[in-house]
Amino acid sequence: GVRVERMRADVVASASHELRTPLASLSGFIETILGPARDDPDATGRFLEIMQAQAQRTRRLIDDLLSLSRIELNEHVRPAAKADLAGIARDVVDAAQPALNRAGIKAVIDVAEGARPVTGARDELLQIAQNLIDNAVKYGGEGGDIEVNIFPSDDGAATALSVSDKGPGIAREHIPRLTERFYRVDDAMSRERGGTGLGLAIVKHILNRHRGRLEIESEPGRGSKFTVFIPVWQPGAA
Ligand code: ADP
Repeated sequence: GVRVERMRADVVASASHELRTPLASLSGFIETILGPARDDPDATGRFLEIMQAQAQRTRRLIDDLLSLSRIELNEHVRPAAKADLAGIARDVVDAAQPALNRAGIKAVIDVAEGARPVTGARDELLQIAQNLIDNAVKYGGEGGDIEVNIFPSDDGAATALSVSDKGPGIAREHIPRLTERFYRVDDAMSRERGGTGLGLAIVKHILNRHRGRLEIESEPGRGSKFTVFIPVWQPGAA
């Protein structure tokens, strides 16, 4: 209908706007290297490094946009496979080790007794864990170690994965908007830390597909906790 069309147009407009920023920066530096900096190899070297970062940013944006559109296309098809959140968390923490080392922090994983396998697509659940752990390192890493907990939900119908950091936290008014595409609490900080503004939108769409949900608890100055709940494994659930 009209609403869906309008939403699609908004998405294209905002994605184009986001892509235009690194592209404008690339064009600017190319002009400078071809013009005023033509005989200055030191300046050219520095500019090329900035250009490399802008090119990487463009690639991350495109990767995330494609990933989001792929997930949306399948959103009404519920995944039917059996997946293990604890193993997924371990793989993501292993992969994040270089970033954790650079930040000088650890990620501690605790798997509660009784945490059961879930019904889900392993690659998408990996993406959820990765986005949440990346964010905890990016925004919360200065506060110290990160905690990852896997535990059964109160009613036992889901298994939860939570990622907690001791970072600056998030003011209450932002929390309901964090899963919107390109919504950022602090634009400059997100950009500086390599964010695309799409990580939590991707998490939300993967959860919709899995009939899961996201809970965000945070208090300024006291860190943040993002918890996802995924329905437990049931043969033939889909
Ligand atoms: P980004 O690519 O900007 O990180 P996300 O969709 O992953 O995009 O997150 C949206 C915004 O939510 C971030 O820009 C940041 O402002 C805020 N945010 C996400 N995770 C955390 C966290 N652990 N601590 C503080 N702020 C966070």
